[in-house]
Amino acid sequence: MPIYKAPLEDVRFVLDEIVGLDKLSALPGYEDATPELVGQVLEEGAKLCEEVLFPLNQSGDGEGCRFENGEVRTPKGFKEAYTTYIEAGWQGLACDPAYGGQGLPKLVNIMLEEFICSANLSFGMYPGLSLGAYNALAMYGSDELKQRFLPKLVDGTWSGTMCLTEPHCGTDLGIIRTRAVPAEDGSFKITGTKIFISAGEHDLTENILHLVLARLPDAPAGTRGISLFLVPKFMPDADGTPGARNGVACGSIEHKMGIKASSTCVMNFEDATGWLVGEPHKGMRAMFVMMNAARLAVGIQGLGLAEVSYQNAVNYARERLQGRSLSGVKAPDKPADPIIVHPDVRKNLLTARAYGEGARALGALVVYHLDVAEKHPDERTRRDADEFVQLMTPIVKALFTDIGFESANIAVQVHGGHGFIWETGVEQYVRDARICQIYEGTNGIQALDLVGRKLPQDMGRLLRHFFHPVGRDIEAAMEKDELGEFVMPLAKAFAKLQQATALIAQKGLKDPEEAGAAASDYLRLFGLVALGWSWLTMVEKAQARLAAGEGNAAFYEAKIKTARFYMAKLLPQTNSLFITIAAGAKPLMELEDAAF
Ligand SMILES: Cc1cc2nc3c(=O)[nH]c(=O)nc-3n(C[C@H](O)[C@H](O)[C@H](O)COP(=O)(O)OP(=O)(O)OC[C@H]3O[C@@H](n4cnc5c(N)ncnc54)[C@H](O)[C@@H]3O)c2cc1C
Repeated sequence: MPIYKAPLEDVRFVLDEIVGLDKLSALPGYEDATPELVGQVLEEGAKLCEEVLFPLNQSGDGEGCRFENGEVRTPKGFKEAYTTYIEAGWQGLACDPAYGGQGLPKLVNIMLEEFICSANLSFGMYPGLSLGAYNALAMYGSDELKQRFLPKLVDGTWSGTMCLTEPHCGTDLGIIRTRAVPAEDGSFKITGTKIFISAGEHDLTENILHLVLARLPDAPAGTRGISLFLVPKFMPDADGTPGARNGVACGSIEHKMGIKASSTCVMNFEDATGWLVGEPHKGMRAMFVMMNAARLAVGIQGLGLAEVSYQNAVNYARERLQGRSLSGVKAPDKPADPIIVHPDVRKNLLTARAYGEGARALGALVVYHLDVAEKHPDERTRRDADEFVQLMTPIVKALFTDIGFESANIAVQVHGGHGFIWETGVEQYVRDARICQIYEGTNGIQALDLVGRKLPQDMGRLLRHFFHPVGRDIEAAMEKDELGEFVMPLAKAFAKLQQATALIAQKGLKDPEEAGAAASDYLRLFGLVALGWSWLTMVEKAQARLAAGEGNAAFYEAKIKTARFYMAKLLPQTNSLFITIAAGAKPLMELEDAAF
């Protein structure tokens, strides 16, 4: 049976010592986010995830969603769990109090999301999509739409979707065909087919609000001609009660590799009534609000799966007895030693641990900047924070989901043959983690976003929001002897990142294919350096606490040892990534298409 315990101690370390909750509660609007309140919220959230959501994860995977007479049934227990979730107000945790939310920082919410994704990724898809719809509507919806629909999304009685993908287009949204025709009353009639729509149809809520990308009759070609519409499943009457059925229906659901308890639907729109969100032809801008928040959230899905995979791998490695330690028998009273004694098993466990803890600290820093970008009184500070988030979003999405998949595979490997068996529970994590690398823009597309859009933006201004603080922290750490063994590898890796950046800027300007060929390796190199930066910060804090004799010494010592592993065993991958990047596009492009 798989296990899960929310990593509260590590989350508190990240919140209190790496990000600094005091900075967060100093932002206007977040005064209530005191350490005590945040602590209570996280403890309650942990309980919900461990006791309500986690027990449904494996059964939900086994049962999956069912499609019956045009309706979707979620697996046993999901509806009750969802009711528990919304009745406790979790859906509105970080939403605007004007619409019934609790107005807590996004950072607190994202920590809760990590727990949810560890406990039950499929379940998390339903509230996650609703939050995405809330974000887009809150930013771009008219006052009337906001008043009418946001309270329902915030209290969770209605849910949301994002309807982008069509049978012939996923990545290239410029070629979507769904049409929107203006009606006399100011609404629009939407017609078209969307596929792969998460939470498109289900039995958890009384209504579903679809955010749909479609083209107006006079739309210019490409992404500049896409508009965003809000299309409810049931038309609400004047007092907000779901009334007549709208012209949208689920045609079927997908039978898929993972997240089987999350419904993935074909949605048919036929003269469905909808309302424009934002300006005509500017739908991509609104959709990007939803997608950017969703990309960070998908990164956190990867982190959640990395954490639960790690926990199960460690649990098994302590119990499973096989072979004897190479340095002498460790458990003489037993027929064999636990496999945790073997260097290769430890390498697997430490890899998952070092990636996961590094990602948690980095993710928290990025989401903290999201809060600053929204709440800080100073405009320049808000802009800088927003640019940092823009830069880091593709890295969080792609790196964290790669880490999630790698850690899930590690958990299977540590379990040996038992890991391959469904009942053990860890092979589900591999299957569930796989989609995170694909949806919300594949990881390859994230890498192109990083090199093609984020690097050159404003003559590299976005990049400076990362390069400057990292360079500064490295310089400061160089002055401290006790940080030497940690900062030296980071300084070398950072130099490789700077060289790679210059190389891509130089070659990519002349030939975009060069930038495209380097993109994925560059994102990984960037991400590894970013994790190294997080580890340096964590080591510094841990050393300071140990020197002061404060807190849980075992926790801080483990941080330092894990950092040592990261710097010595994982960060050097940056060398080979740099070599691969420098090899350029030719080895990829010279084989003729026909020869494949
Ligand atoms: C379980 C599940 C849930 C989903 N949920 C939703 C949802 O809620 N709403 C929604 O709208 N969609 C959803 N999707 C769709 C998902 O976002 C798309 O599958 C994804 O964006 C990729 O699109 P595609 O499948 O058409 O692949 P394609 O776009 O056909 O891409 C195929 C491959 O080519 C690569 N590629 C494509 N174009 C380029 C390029 N220009 N340069 C380099 N490489 C390129 C891609 O990286 C990929 O590896 C979901 C999909 C699944 C499977």
